[in-house]
Amino acid sequence: MDINKQSNFIRDIIEQDMASGKHDLIVTRFPPEPNGYLHIGHAKSICLNFGVARDYGGRCHLRFDDTNPKKEDPEYVRSIMDDVRWLGFDWGEHLYHASDYFEELYQFGLELIKRDKAYVCSLSPEQIRAYRGTLTEAGKDSPYRGRGIQENLDLFQRMRKGEFDEGDHVLRAKIDMSSPNINLRDPVVFRIVKADHHRTKDDWCIYPTYDYAHCLSDSIEGITHSLCSLEFQDHRPLYDWILEQLPVKCHPRQIEFARLNLNYTVMSKRKLARLVQKGVVSSWDDPRMPTLSGLRRRGYTPESIRRFCDLIGVAKSENIVDMSMLEYCVREDLNRKAPRVMAVLDPVRLIITNYPDDRVEELEAVNNPEDPSMGTRKVPFSRELYIERQDFMEDPPKKFFRLSPGKEVRLRYAFFVTCQNVVKDPETGEIVEIHCSYDPATKGGDSPDGRKVKSTLHWVSARHARRVEVRLYDRLFSRPNPAEDERKGVDFLAHVNPDSLKVIRNCFMEPGLENLSPGDKYQFERLGYFCVDPDSTTGMHVFNRTVTLRDAWARIQKKKH
Ligand code: ATP
Ligand code: MG
Repeated sequence: MDINKQSNFIRDIIEQDMASGKHDLIVTRFPPEPNGYLHIGHAKSICLNFGVARDYGGRCHLRFDDTNPKKEDPEYVRSIMDDVRWLGFDWGEHLYHASDYFEELYQFGLELIKRDKAYVCSLSPEQIRAYRGTLTEAGKDSPYRGRGIQENLDLFQRMRKGEFDEGDHVLRAKIDMSSPNINLRDPVVFRIVKADHHRTKDDWCIYPTYDYAHCLSDSIEGITHSLCSLEFQDHRPLYDWILEQLPVKCHPRQIEFARLNLNYTVMSKRKLARLVQKGVVSSWDDPRMPTLSGLRRRGYTPESIRRFCDLIGVAKSENIVDMSMLEYCVREDLNRKAPRVMAVLDPVRLIITNYPDDRVEELEAVNNPEDPSMGTRKVPFSRELYIERQDFMEDPPKKFFRLSPGKEVRLRYAFFVTCQNVVKDPETGEIVEIHCSYDPATKGGDSPDGRKVKSTLHWVSARHARRVEVRLYDRLFSRPNPAEDERKGVDFLAHVNPDSLKVIRNCFMEPGLENLSPGDKYQFERLGYFCVDPDSTTGMHVFNRTVTLRDAWARIQKKKH
């Protein structure tokens, strides 16, 4: 595993806490709510929490924050565990659920009431909102704020027994309705929800709120540093208040960091769920999704995502990361790992007129020029080949160095060929055959007389090639920030890029790769990195393009210096 040697303000705090003897053992947690699949933003939090625990000899818990039974699903629980493991992290025996603590959290609720720090409020949800006030206006005390401890205990116990309907009552912390921090204006800590929970079934009909359950779950587990994104900064006083009122053994320190934002995509699970529900994408693991399962299916490696998380770092200031940085990371990783093969996505037939029809030569091709240990392979060459249609122009402009009538080019690992003429479809005028002659003395792609050609094309032997399906992807949205106009009432779905997926069914790939499995990765020479999709059948392999070879981010970096 790549050890993250980078320092950041959170690691500085942890190092100080260890040096001062405040903590011997660092305990962190990654606390997803199982209401959707994990996305690349979660990867930042996973790498941070698990990375810190690993690097300081501590441990990191995986805790499902499952306090919202109406939105949660065991499918999400499974996918989250798969994704965390896939990313390369292991919680060992430390798998927990907020729902493990429902009884304890209820007992703490009773304790708050006994200490006169909580009361049952019988305002309707709308009234509670109206009484809360605004950023500029203080809130108003609930008429139920003065209820006696006995009455509160009785009502809270009856809420738990199921005697009331949703919305009839809630339990609220008794803090300060005039606090400038709205989170401290007597926040709700328990509400009635008449829904079965995927783990506790119908044991409960009251459920704790996030703010209440989170700090107490952290405390119960002995978390030392509770790392969360910046939107929880204003909740920290509440986090601390709750732990200060109760007889808890441990008071974790909450530290906030900026969440990851990526351009040309959306990152909230609610939005991602809508893309799935509306059929904009095929599923949560659609290769266009910024989910970890989507990125995996697209061909991203765990190493590339961890590297990306290292590169973006951890800080307090919000920013938007360019998608090309993520692409740079996967390119860098696959460049080292992915074997090269030749495949033609938009084939046109090339016929070598002076090559015998019955001859086949096995030519040696390098599997990965970055890694000689990956060896070589034999690629069959014959009289009829396919090349990319766009590698030929009948009437080329000056700067076009690829094939055109009278021009000589190199066929990768094979020979120099010179174009003589073309055959067109008499009806459509489309070029159907390109006729060339080859120079047998240039075998392997070098000319003995030092003759130079300006371009090298990839090709496949028509007789030997395998037909494959290729899926090319573009950005899912046509705007850098698809949600920017939401306040003006423009839904982010209005900015979906209609051309984000292009399926090409008649592509040809060199032979010799018959036993492919989903997830196998190759570089198609000159075309990009491709990954075998689970939709593949024995008869037809399907490849997703992970990323092109073009490296925009590296170029931008170069320009800056
Ligand atoms: P979303 O808004 O996408 O639904 P969430 O914050 O509600 O995300 P949780 O399941 O509650 O999702 O998140 C689990 C953890 O992941 C939290 O600690 C949260 O701070 C962190 N997290 C979520 N999104 C990001 C992000 N974009 N960047 C960094 N951390 C994130
Ligand atoms: Mg959340």
